[in-house]
Amino acid sequence: MYLHVYDLTDCTLCPRRCHGDRTRPPYGYCQSGTAPKAALASVHQYEEPPISGTRGSGTVFFSGCALRCVFCQNYTISQENNGVTLTTEELADTFLSLQEKQVHNLNLVTAGHFLPSVVDALRLAKEQGLTLPVVYNSSGYETVEALSLLEGLVDIYLPDCKYYDTALSAKLSHCPDYFFHAAKAIGEMVRQVGEAVFDENGLMQRGVIIRHMVLPSAREDSKKILSWIKETFGDTVYVSLLRQYTPMYLAKEFPPFHRKLTTFEYEDVVDHFLSLGLTHGFRQEKSSATSAYTPLFDGSGLCRRATSRKEES
Ligand code: SF4
Repeated sequence: MYLHVYDLTDCTLCPRRCHGDRTRPPYGYCQSGTAPKAALASVHQYEEPPISGTRGSGTVFFSGCALRCVFCQNYTISQENNGVTLTTEELADTFLSLQEKQVHNLNLVTAGHFLPSVVDALRLAKEQGLTLPVVYNSSGYETVEALSLLEGLVDIYLPDCKYYDTALSAKLSHCPDYFFHAAKAIGEMVRQVGEAVFDENGLMQRGVIIRHMVLPSAREDSKKILSWIKETFGDTVYVSLLRQYTPMYLAKEFPPFHRKLTTFEYEDVVDHFLSLGLTHGFRQEKSSATSAYTPLFDGSGLCRRATSRKEES
């Protein structure tokens, strides 16, 4: 077993630094105990093309969240906290089971609040034969100190950069300091893995893709984020401009976030991307704005020992 610097009885793992006691309910803001909890391990086809490729991305969706956005598409696991608790060994076995499905990579979605256990599970899985590139798929709300635990274990970072404006992030994700921390976290991710590297089939082996979902009535915020990316990283990182915003969970109570994005809003942000001289990007079709792409979080694909233990209890 490996030692970590974090005292999870007084948790400061993420920028929320809520000092929750992770050893007993009600835990902290992320509603998570010390052991990793996940809701699905599946072959995912809907990531960016160099991640999903032809055989898909082996994706583990973790339960709980340190952000808990009011519009979250995955609210049944991020807020309602459905899922299965796993041991480190069971999580490592889950990783290895995905590898057996011939996927292009192992993709860890919102794992930050379980980072010490995830680090242990990655090390264990690598000792037992995990060779896939590891994708760390993050809300962007992470500390540099915690991310440093992942150095050498993660090949591809897929962080969100959700908001620039403090009032917007306070309203939608209860954290006015979102951009302050996300900017530093993304800088650390770029430092760790550097510029993108692809294999002969165009699949990403290393690098960073910054995701930004354009929100209704928030085009100017999107443009500030793109300008920051250009000023900070030049044209060296990939940017994925998401237009999949679908008003789910509590979004109807937060107008104008109760509606989908218009084509004009999305294209205006794409135009800004191009006007900055950015060339490494991905865009989404209008048809991606639907809840149909939200997976069914039924615990499938997770280590059988953990799921049968849950069924027995
Ligand atoms: S990881 Fe969870 S318990 Fe720890 S500081 Fe963040 S929100 Fe609080």
